[in-house]
Amino acid sequence: MQSKRRLAARLETIQDRDVRATRARQNHASHGFLICRHHNSLYDLPPVRQPEPPRMSTVDPKTTESDSDKAPVGPPKKRGVPEGLWLKCPGCLASVYKKEIEQRLNVCPKCEHHFYVSARERIAQVLDEGTFEPMNEHLRPTDPLKFADRRKYSERLVSEQKRTGLTDAAVTGSGMVRARRVALAVTDSAFIMGSMGSVVGERLARLIEWATEQDLPLIIISASGGGARMHEGILSLMQMAKVSAALARYDEAGGLFISVLTNPTMGGVAASFASLGDLVFAEPKALIGFAGPRTIKATIGIELPEGFQTSEFLLEHGYIDRIVERKYLKTEIAKAIDYCGK
Ligand SMILES: [Zn+2]
Repeated sequence: MQSKRRLAARLETIQDRDVRATRARQNHASHGFLICRHHNSLYDLPPVRQPEPPRMSTVDPKTTESDSDKAPVGPPKKRGVPEGLWLKCPGCLASVYKKEIEQRLNVCPKCEHHFYVSARERIAQVLDEGTFEPMNEHLRPTDPLKFADRRKYSERLVSEQKRTGLTDAAVTGSGMVRARRVALAVTDSAFIMGSMGSVVGERLARLIEWATEQDLPLIIISASGGGARMHEGILSLMQMAKVSAALARYDEAGGLFISVLTNPTMGGVAASFASLGDLVFAEPKALIGFAGPRTIKATIGIELPEGFQTSEFLLEHGYIDRIVERKYLKTEIAKAIDYCGK
């Protein structure tokens, strides 16, 4: 009797192990590497939540089993409007009531200084309520170069994801702007300075291709102080060409691309898609440029004019088409879509 029970227990253990092994194999297949058909890029599908073990070479069933597709936990911390009831506006140095700023879409009531807004808030500001449908959220950044500066890139990714509640610096999808259907992308400067890594580039490229297929107006709102993401080296730089090529095809198909530049839009983002709009809008006093003033001065040895990287200066010199205050952005986008017959 006792041996029978022991045998049954043993059988159960074997079955259990078989089930676990099958599950691990399935996990490996569905959570392993995906090579994108269109762009020949490598993506690791599960969210990057464990800094160890190395993710490009092996997939440990133990870690994949505990991984889920849920977004990283923890409330996203607001960056633009700090904690406390009052805050000092960097534009006019006045103490301003925080609630009032929030009610005015994070704009100072005294000097119209435009504070930071997160990608999520921006989407809520621009799109009709409840119409946003995110796309390609399953693409997650990896650390192909095993890059480390002050800390490992893989660790940085995890902490940025926890801090911002985003999986990478760009959010893409579709929605309605005053009942006009659009493809929308927003970058968020809170996530590694909004820099364009391979996932940002891939999400944008896929959105543009989708907008081309669907014949939809395309809106990209840039808030990227970092340009290309140096942590990914050449993989990051090639995103500029990839996104620009997708935009060229979109243009050939007769699409309308409205690029909205916000503070800051710099580096490889400014040097690629952000500058390629059929219409280029910018928020007031936004910092827009390629390299920072100090770098330029050190390189060419010339003192540059005051405020040469602001929206106002760039409007005067024909780089952008219009400065649009945040409260009018939604209306201006809708007007532009109608004006262009889209
Ligand atoms: Zn102010």
